[in-house]
Amino acid sequence: MIAEILCVGTELLLGDIVNTNAAFIAKELAFAGIKSFWQSVVGDNSKRLLESFNLALSRADVVITSGGLGPTYDDLTKETAAKCLGLKLELRPDLLENLRKIFARMGREMSPNNEKQALMPEGAHVFENLRGTAPGLAVTKNGKSIVMLPGPPRELEPMFSGQVLPWLAQMAGLGTLVSHGVNIFGLGESAVEDRLKHMMENYSNPTLAPYAKTGEVLVRVTASAGAPEEAEKLIAPVLEEIKSRLDGYVYGIDAGSLQNALVNALKEKKLKIAAAESCTGGIISGRITEVPGASEVFGCGLCAYSNEMKSKLLGVNPGTLEKFGAVSAQTAIEMAQGVRELSGADISISTSGIAGPGGGTTEKPVGLVYIGYCTEKNYGALELHLGRGYADDRNLIRYLAASEALALALKLLRLE
Ligand code: ATP
Repeated sequence: MIAEILCVGTELLLGDIVNTNAAFIAKELAFAGIKSFWQSVVGDNSKRLLESFNLALSRADVVITSGGLGPTYDDLTKETAAKCLGLKLELRPDLLENLRKIFARMGREMSPNNEKQALMPEGAHVFENLRGTAPGLAVTKNGKSIVMLPGPPRELEPMFSGQVLPWLAQMAGLGTLVSHGVNIFGLGESAVEDRLKHMMENYSNPTLAPYAKTGEVLVRVTASAGAPEEAEKLIAPVLEEIKSRLDGYVYGIDAGSLQNALVNALKEKKLKIAAAESCTGGIISGRITEVPGASEVFGCGLCAYSNEMKSKLLGVNPGTLEKFGAVSAQTAIEMAQGVRELSGADISISTSGIAGPGGGTTEKPVGLVYIGYCTEKNYGALELHLGRGYADDRNLIRYLAASEALALALKLLRLE
């Protein structure tokens, strides 16, 4: 099967938005082993869109579009695809009902042009949109298919991975596709690739593909088989092999994020965590409270930015601040001890560092961060150098410091 990506939107042509959908879909197709030789972008113009469909269908079996499924007059993808394949549009009562429910849930009145989103070419297969109003769809005629997806990446990405890829795999005779993500922290993408090189180059089912995220790497392991259980059986030993090749750097399988893994691990152990933040300014608390149900395990996140507040709120000894400075292992430890005592949590973490761009010295350069920790049995601090030497490192340093603190808490918890 040959697939072709066609992104629709005048904003893309004008350079107002970056075509991340094409990159995302291309990468997903590559994992699944579906060939793709062409990609194009066309504006919101039905004549040129029709030309693009005809050209793409002349050289591919499946054309995958993004954008132009909204309710407004310039959203033309569905109508043009129907015209291209000679299919009539029909109103789908189930979709209309669903749209009404979505609007009622949002407490908003549905305007008549929204009904357009319940129109489908005859025989269309519908992909549910779990994050928006425009459903995706696929139509097939004479052995050629057009798959149409909504433009917003937060809607398109889960729809593609969860529904479209399995549909394409069936169409391509690849059977069922099952995929798991290995979450890695503490090793860069090239180091991960280096350790898994042999597997990436030689394994074809399952396939392995790395994704670099800020400070993290995700390795997607995807297998195809006749049934999901068979695919799982193919994947299981590969996950074990990855874990052993990456030592202690794997923090979860399908964990979602460090904060997710941490909150779940705390819940399992019925333990609570608290955070005292200086250079991260609340990022740790923000990330923990992103996770639904965080209140079960997190009662206190305190941002003590000034020396005065470190002493007043966390009981950091002014002598410690004077002797070692705010950015020091000693201060970070006292911050962690202070917030643990204050909150009654089982585990606490703290951050103190120089995020820059100013404030660095030869002894204490920008990027120097201490992560303090305290448990019932143990306390200490990690010294990290997170600066990359760029003027705009500040937010990266702060985000990475928070990630390091979350990862440290997860390690401590696994030792508890
Ligand atoms: P909506 O129902 O929101 O109107 P739609 O399917 O009609 O969705 P568009 O109106 O074409 O999609 O695009 C909506 C938004 O989605 C754009 O403003 C842009 O932010 C994002 N978007 C669209 N196409 C792409 C793309 N190829 N890559 C990244 N983002 C995109």
